[in-house]
Amino acid sequence: MPAIIESTPMKRLTAVAVACAALFANAAEPETPLTKLPYTPGLDVSAMDRSVDPCVDFYQYSCGGWMKNNPIPSDQPSWDVYGKLAQENQRFLWGILDELAKKTQGRNANQQRIGDYFAACMDEDAVEKLGASPLKPRLDAIDAMKSKAELPALIARLHLATGDSGFLFGFGSNQDFADSTSVIAFAVHGGQGLPDKDYYLKDDPKQREIRDKYVAHVTKMFELIGDSPEAAKRNAAKVMEIETALAKASLSRVDRRDPHKLFHKMDRKGLRELTPGFDWNVYLKTLGVDRVQKFNVTQPEFYKGLEAQLASQSLEDIKVFLRWQAAHSSAAFLSKAFVNETFEFFSKTLRGVPELKPRWKRCVALVDGQLGEALGQEFVRRTFGPETKAKALRMTKQIEEAMRRDIDELPWMTPATKAKAHEKLKVIANKIGYPDKWRDYSSIAVKRGDFFGNVERAQRFESRRDLNKIGKPLDRKEWYMTPPSVNAYFDSQMNDINFPAGVLQPPLFDPKMDDAPNYGNTGATIGHELTHGFDDQGRKFDAKGNLEDWWTEADDKAFTERAKCIQDQYSQYVIVDDIKINGELTLGEDVADLGGIILAWMAWKQEVAGKKLEDRDGLTPEQRFFVGYSQWSCSNDRPENMRLKAQTDPHSPPKYRTNGLMVNLPEFQKAFSCKAGQPMVAEKRCRVW
Ligand SMILES: [Zn+2]
Repeated sequence: MPAIIESTPMKRLTAVAVACAALFANAAEPETPLTKLPYTPGLDVSAMDRSVDPCVDFYQYSCGGWMKNNPIPSDQPSWDVYGKLAQENQRFLWGILDELAKKTQGRNANQQRIGDYFAACMDEDAVEKLGASPLKPRLDAIDAMKSKAELPALIARLHLATGDSGFLFGFGSNQDFADSTSVIAFAVHGGQGLPDKDYYLKDDPKQREIRDKYVAHVTKMFELIGDSPEAAKRNAAKVMEIETALAKASLSRVDRRDPHKLFHKMDRKGLRELTPGFDWNVYLKTLGVDRVQKFNVTQPEFYKGLEAQLASQSLEDIKVFLRWQAAHSSAAFLSKAFVNETFEFFSKTLRGVPELKPRWKRCVALVDGQLGEALGQEFVRRTFGPETKAKALRMTKQIEEAMRRDIDELPWMTPATKAKAHEKLKVIANKIGYPDKWRDYSSIAVKRGDFFGNVERAQRFESRRDLNKIGKPLDRKEWYMTPPSVNAYFDSQMNDINFPAGVLQPPLFDPKMDDAPNYGNTGATIGHELTHGFDDQGRKFDAKGNLEDWWTEADDKAFTERAKCIQDQYSQYVIVDDIKINGELTLGEDVADLGGIILAWMAWKQEVAGKKLEDRDGLTPEQRFFVGYSQWSCSNDRPENMRLKAQTDPHSPPKYRTNGLMVNLPEFQKAFSCKAGQPMVAEKRCRVW
């Protein structure tokens, strides 16, 4: 439900190194490693502001105390319940890693790997002494190119070593949209440092200012790898020129929500025709996948744009572009000068984050990113018992049962489509807590004194692991999130629901609490993820996970009409300054929020049927359900970050993810005795699920 990972067909192509915003995104008071996860109750009375009328502003009523007590830490773009839990989680992982780093004997192989990886990452003096030198082999390889014909082999080597799609484009494996049981090669767009094409193209003063600052950042990065100030300036202008051309050829974020626009299967001949100037045979051979014949080129227009750049730019200018990408993609693993410069632009300017995260946080995130299932085994052993797993699984099945009943009762879905929906619902797999089979990291050598080398070896392992899947049957048991992750998703192609152990912790999921807040909170999240399997995105993938629309035109019309009610409602909400929600961008998530809470309510009512429920903390059980829901969304945000998210985040701001639902729910209005005309009572209620 939070923003970080939604199930997009592209998720598997997100390389560890690309996630730098998170790595760059300090703390006022010195923090310490934890040996136990702190406890916050699933319904936290101190997080409420009971001076506010719940029928006027329910978000303020349930979260006012939280907002007052939880200012945004200086190393964060925003702050919320998920972020806070994630931070506590990180400190706990720090405790685990710190212990394993200090120990040199009695560790098993994975404990050695994560302990020594963490120790090498934390050795800032060693990293500092090396300066830019770890980059030298890559920069030398770029400089050594004598003709454009050498480009494909070089790009393949850079992709293997970094997994970074900044090197012209991205390449990896994914399920065939038309046959979900087979894994094929995917060639995706890339080569752009800014978050979205609008950043390159929109002609307003704010975007122009960001572009100027971006060029200044790229200039400084060139200076850090040894260019004179004049050369650095010229080179940065060239980078901006090429990236802008690539952005023009790329699809917008709204377009990328449509998998049909991202599905263009072709053979080698097709690839060659798109980019005659790039020898794919050499590229694929160097990657070690020279037998691959089937490709999904997600954005053919992008590859035409890339071809035009490769043809029109000189060899020297292409080298300039690649040198920038080399510095950018590895900045997080180099000396402070690189880290700070990247932080200044990507976190401070773009997201308003005042301070760089302390090194331990960046190192914990890297271990999680690169050796996540080794760290995950340690996390699960300490935090996630079989009883919690059983309880979470029971709730998931109840929500699925509620979905079954809901489908039966829907007034707008046609009987034929209902039958297909039931078919899909029946075969959904529930991935709760951690994988049945852990990933085998035995081929990765981790050395205590070699941070940069560890990162590269772990990335090579990941690149190979990903590419090795091409042409093999799909592994339905694979997990795409690590067990400590404080996040969840539904995957249309796998047709499964994913709730890692990290997100099934208090205050989100609190086995010590009464049912109401647990169903309101985690239950609604499960419901949210589940509806994605059946909404305007999920309709495009059938029970097997194939890209096959199973709705009739009549269903489409009825859904669109009902969804439009929600789109119009959210489009009126102001995010920051004069910027309103882009209701078209957030529609899928807004519909899922409303559907999720309705399913959670149905499941809770079934769970507590016949039980005698008591008031607690001066709240009825029904009120506790809704406060429990709202309290996942408590947050504080910075204006800069709100501006960025308004353009890129498919989720509405948390305030509206609460209030925007309550206005549509008679169950809420009854629970708090709200009256017609009050702000939390909509004149015209919207409902899809
Ligand atoms: Zn969602």
